[in-house]
Amino acid sequence: MLNKKLVLLIFLIIFVTLPSIADTIQGLPLHVQKITNNVIRMWVGDYMSSTAISAIATQKGIIVIDTTDVSSIDQGFRKIIAKEFQRDDFKYLINTHGHADHTNGNGVYNDCEIIAHENAIELIKTNFSNFSEMQKFFDGFKLRLNEELNSEKLTDNKKALINEQIKFYSIAQESMKANSKPTFPTKTFKEKLTLDCGDATLELFQAGGTHTTSDIFILYKEKGILFTGDIMADKWLTDIPGCLANFKIQAGTSQDYITLQQNWKELLDKKDQIKLYIPGHWNAELSPNGFQDRYNYFITLIDAVKIMSQKGQDLPQFVAAYTLKNIYPQLVDSPGFSQSNHIGSIYHLYSIYSGKISASLEIQKILQKDLFIAQFPRLREEILKARDKYFILEEDINRVGYFLLQQIKEPTGAIALFEFNVQLFPNSWNAYDSLAEAYYTNGEKAKALQLFKKAVEMNPKNENGKNFITRIEKEL
Ligand SMILES: [Zn+2]
Repeated sequence: MLNKKLVLLIFLIIFVTLPSIADTIQGLPLHVQKITNNVIRMWVGDYMSSTAISAIATQKGIIVIDTTDVSSIDQGFRKIIAKEFQRDDFKYLINTHGHADHTNGNGVYNDCEIIAHENAIELIKTNFSNFSEMQKFFDGFKLRLNEELNSEKLTDNKKALINEQIKFYSIAQESMKANSKPTFPTKTFKEKLTLDCGDATLELFQAGGTHTTSDIFILYKEKGILFTGDIMADKWLTDIPGCLANFKIQAGTSQDYITLQQNWKELLDKKDQIKLYIPGHWNAELSPNGFQDRYNYFITLIDAVKIMSQKGQDLPQFVAAYTLKNIYPQLVDSPGFSQSNHIGSIYHLYSIYSGKISASLEIQKILQKDLFIAQFPRLREEILKARDKYFILEEDINRVGYFLLQQIKEPTGAIALFEFNVQLFPNSWNAYDSLAEAYYTNGEKAKALQLFKKAVEMNPKNENGKNFITRIEKEL
C-alpha cells in the first residue's frame, strides 16, 4: 500500500506542476498546467467543475483534446496554446465524447481534422437540437443560483462557486446565441484508431458504455499519458464533481461491453508504460489503482449479471444479495460509486442479457404532466398481460412514483402508480405507505389514514407511517 502511494507521489512530482493562474478569460480565472515540455492542460474557474482541455505539440502539428461548452472560451484557449507553444499549426481536435461540455467549441477548430467516436455525432445533434430549451434552461438555472445567493447563509466558498457559475452561464448563453450551429467530427472511428504524428503516437480506443455510448480512451504512447474523458475518477478535488459524479454501466450494448473490456484490458496490460491518467474535468484525478478497480468492478458485475440472467435466477434476490457493500466493500466510498448507481448498472445489464424490458424504464418514458395520466392505463394493461416480457422491481416503481408526486407534482398519477405497486407486491408494507402518502398529498386524508394504519400494522417499526397517523388524526 505504502509503496504504491510512493510511486504515485513520484509520478505526480515529475509530471504535474502546480496549476498557476496566468490570466483570465472573459473575467474567469484561467489555469494553465504544464504537464510535460510539449503537453499543457487548461481550464477556467477556481470552484466549478469545468472541462479541462489538453494540447500536445507534435512534429506534425498541434493536437487539442476536447473543447468546453463555450466557443468564446475555446477561442481564448486556442490563442493561449499558440502562445505557449510559439506556433499555430493546429492539426487535430479530438473529442473524448459527445457531451456539450466537450464538443460545443468544435467550431473554433473547423480548420482541423476533428476526430471522435462515431456515436458522438448523435449526441452532438441532440446538444444543438433544443436551442431554445437550452436558453430557457440557462435562464432558469441562473435564476435559481441568484435566489440561492440571496436567500441562504452561505460559506465563502459556496458564494464564490455560485458567482462563478452565474458568470460562466451568462457567457455560455451569449456564446450560444452567436454560434448556434453544431460542428461535427470530420473523421470518426468505431473500435480503435492510431494517429501517427511523427514524434507522437496517439492510440484512440472505443470506451463507450458507461458515461455515454461515445467515450474513448486516448493514449499518448511516447509520454505514457492516458486521457480518460469523463469515464471515471477516483479522487475529487472539490465538493462538486460535475460530470465525473457517477460511474455507472448504463449506455452500451452487449457488443460494446465486449469491445470495452478488450480495450480496457489492453491498456491495463500496458500499465507499466502509463505514467499519468488525465480525466476530462480539472477537479478530478485518477490513479492506476482506481483504473484497475473500476475495470475489475466492470468485468465481475457483467459476468455475474450475465450468469444470473442466463440461469433465470430471481432479480430482486440478486439485487438484495449482490450489494455494493457485500461484494465491493472497497468501492462503497469511492468516487462515482453509490448503491443506486450500482442497482442502475445491474438493471441495464439485466435487460441486455435477459432480453427483458425494464417496466420502470417504460414508465419513465411517459413521465410528463398530463401524458402520464393519459397513457399509464394502457401501459399498465400491457405490462400485466405480458408479465414475462418485463422485469418489475418494487423499489424501482416506488422511486418513480415519488418522482411523479414530488417533482412532476402529479398526485393522481402517483396514486395510480403506487396502486399498481400494491397490486404487484401486496405483501410490501412500503408499497402501502407510499400509496398513503400520495393520497395525503392529494388531500384525501381519510383514505390516507386507513392505508397508513395498514402499513404500520404490516410493519410496526414504520416511523414515517406512525408520524403521519398522529398528524392526520390531529388534522381530521
Ligand atoms: Zn460528459
